[in-house]
Amino acid sequence: METKDLYRILGVSRGASQEEIRRAYRRLARKYHPDANPDDPSAEERFKEIQHAYEVLSDPERRRRYDQGPSAFFGGERVSGNGSGFGGFSNISDIFDTFGDVFGRGGRGQRPSSRGQDVTVSVNLGFREALSGVTTRVSAPVEEECSTCGGSGAAPGTFPRTCPECGGRGTSTQDQGFFAFSSTCRRCGGSGTVIDRPCPTCHGDGRVRNARQVTVRIPAGAKDGMKIRIPGRGSAGRNGGPRGDLYVVTRVAEHPVFERRGDDFVVELPVSFTEAALGARVDVPRPEGGTVRLKIPAGTQDGKQFRVRGAGAPHPRGGGRGDLIVRVRVVVPAKLTRREREILEAFADVHDDNVREDLFRRVGEAR
Ligand SMILES: [Zn+2]
Ligand SMILES: [Zn+2]
Repeated sequence: METKDLYRILGVSRGASQEEIRRAYRRLARKYHPDANPDDPSAEERFKEIQHAYEVLSDPERRRRYDQGPSAFFGGERVSGNGSGFGGFSNISDIFDTFGDVFGRGGRGQRPSSRGQDVTVSVNLGFREALSGVTTRVSAPVEEECSTCGGSGAAPGTFPRTCPECGGRGTSTQDQGFFAFSSTCRRCGGSGTVIDRPCPTCHGDGRVRNARQVTVRIPAGAKDGMKIRIPGRGSAGRNGGPRGDLYVVTRVAEHPVFERRGDDFVVELPVSFTEAALGARVDVPRPEGGTVRLKIPAGTQDGKQFRVRGAGAPHPRGGGRGDLIVRVRVVVPAKLTRREREILEAFADVHDDNVREDLFRRVGEAR
């Protein structure tokens, strides 16, 4: 008859939480699993003790009975024997299904480890914020391993067992005449394991969805639709697989004046017809605030573009800046005073430039 202290076997205090008990069990089960200790025959005995202690202490009702006293408990609970007293997980392979990943084995019914899913979230940024760069927090809907069942999907104290239908292969084969059809096992859905009592938290999936707050640094000059990769911040992997990545996609607000083109900005600059004809120095607004002075040479035509080097967006991948492209729009006065009209008529008298000469020459030359 068992006389050992089940709490001492798991190395936890009598007031240990279910989570502490589960963690202690997982740690010890890995350490003493017979497959991890092929040269130590005592490991299997120790492993069975650990299994038994966990089975009792992880079940609130059985733990309560055990706590009331050894006589009340040991009447119906034996650690030695033929194994049938171990309830649903006396079979080493059942435990192995859960911890197989730790030993790197591809065993019967073992679910393969897989990398967690990549998760993509978008972040909304103001025009100036994106230009100067900002550190912000995003809420990423990632999948985590369920902490109630440790990712197994089985209710605490129970374990997934090898699917009896397919023997853990995940597929079933039917012979039909000359052909053998292989299809996904209907009983286990291809996982190779079945769960008798699903975990109440994750309903057997082994996963729960969580909104995880992640701090992300948006580089100065971030463009709309830019994808920033944060390695290892996606969903948790399955059965020990690595986490996926998190991708943050930037959504940058448009500016009413500055149009982004690569790392350059384009701005349309109204210039009066006299400024265009005579030449002028004019102030041009800069995307991040302030102005830059631009020299408009005499005789500047409508649509002419000037490039202000380095006044565009910083390259988000580092080093240098784009340019500010200034496109001239010549503004003609919509109304003239009498005096203005007289001056312009006098101008027209002395200015005999035929602006359509070239147009008609080209029309005449065409075949
Ligand atoms: Zn199956
Ligand atoms: Zn669960």
